[in-house]
Amino acid sequence: MRHRIAVIGGGPAGLTFARVLHRHAHPVTVLERDPAPDARPPGGTLDLHEKLGQLALGKAGLLAEFEALSRPEGQAMRILDTDGTVLRDWQPRPDDRANPEIDRGQLRDLLLGPLDVQWGRGVTEVVPGTRDGVLVRFPDGRQETFDLVVGADGAWSRVRPALSSATPHYAGVTSVETSLDDVDTRHPDLARLIGDGSMAVYGVNRALVAQRNSGGHVKVYAQFRAPLDWHTNLDLADVEAVRSSLLALFDGWAAPVLGLLRRGIAFVHRPLYVLPVSHTWAHVPGVTLLGDAAHLMPPLGVGANLAMLEGAELAESVASDSGDLDEAVRAFEEQMWARAGRWAKITAAGLERLVSPDPAEALAFFDEVQPS
Ligand SMILES: Cc1cc2nc3c(=O)[nH]c(=O)nc-3n(C[C@H](O)[C@H](O)[C@H](O)COP(=O)(O)OP(=O)(O)OC[C@H]3O[C@@H](n4cnc5c(N)ncnc54)[C@H](O)[C@@H]3O)c2cc1C
Repeated sequence: MRHRIAVIGGGPAGLTFARVLHRHAHPVTVLERDPAPDARPPGGTLDLHEKLGQLALGKAGLLAEFEALSRPEGQAMRILDTDGTVLRDWQPRPDDRANPEIDRGQLRDLLLGPLDVQWGRGVTEVVPGTRDGVLVRFPDGRQETFDLVVGADGAWSRVRPALSSATPHYAGVTSVETSLDDVDTRHPDLARLIGDGSMAVYGVNRALVAQRNSGGHVKVYAQFRAPLDWHTNLDLADVEAVRSSLLALFDGWAAPVLGLLRRGIAFVHRPLYVLPVSHTWAHVPGVTLLGDAAHLMPPLGVGANLAMLEGAELAESVASDSGDLDEAVRAFEEQMWARAGRWAKITAAGLERLVSPDPAEALAFFDEVQPS
């Protein structure tokens, strides 16, 4: 008998889960709150690791398409001092496919493929243990029941309360995001500064990171240690006021580097939230979590990768399940918790070192993780 399975959320976790189930011809209901795939900007570029995100795409049968879309040259990484001196300049080898970059929108469309997502279906609550299975509630009062509900609904998951009382807390670092369009033609000086991939500058409790997306689009992240209410006297909707405030925060940094903030088009405020390291829960039959809903961690290039691999692994175990769905989910959770716990420790320590009172720590961190 085929189980009734729903996944809540159409991000990297939910779509990979659904796509791998689809490959195994197993039906799945995908419930997504956004009214349409392009309802909001998809966000910046993602590097997909060979042993995480790419492994998941392989399980979905999408590796060749990924290779055609991805940008191996985007693996280039450059670190500058606050005075503009280049301290490190790593270039990928021509055959290096360890962490190629892909735009989030491209990845979403690749995963969507033939999937029949129910857009505009935000879930308000999940109630396990009813007579007919796990109940999923919607804002309009409707409800449906399933044998398995997979919460892939991100940081502020509405599924998580069915399993755990944990909620994300502020990590002490805020990121304000801006962007540049057509960088090669409109800002050739900044294009040269950034190079083919990413560029980062580390100062005392501050970092400025610029990352190329496809089509000459660049995302810039100004990150700094600050209390959550650092903007009390600032109108975050006032672009010029935010720009001035950031320029004051990064005062004294080299003019070419500050050009990234001076010429940024708009600013998006993103305080960084995290779940407790090694977040687990007492297993509840019929409900589980994937990705950020399970283990929100600092954005150090691994969250989407883990989310996708978890989605693929859970789908494979459900599809190959010999009858005991609950046992398959239980085994998956043990494996996810162990791996995510290791990465949560690494990324928490990484954030401490990258946005740190001692900028030498950031450089040391990269020297440890970057292949020489
Ligand atoms: C600035 C930044 C840069 C990053 N860079 C990288 C990187 O380079 N590499 C990397 O691996 N990771 C990166 N990450 C982390 C990565 O973005 C996340 O870990 C990843 O998106 C998690 O995927 P997910 O599917 O679990 O959740 P999400 O991507 O958050 O998707 C959740 C989905 O659920 C939907 N949803 C939410 N609530 C409901 C509801 N109630 N009902 C129905 N649907 C709902 C949302 O609309 C969304 O579509 C970065 C994060 C940030 C902030």
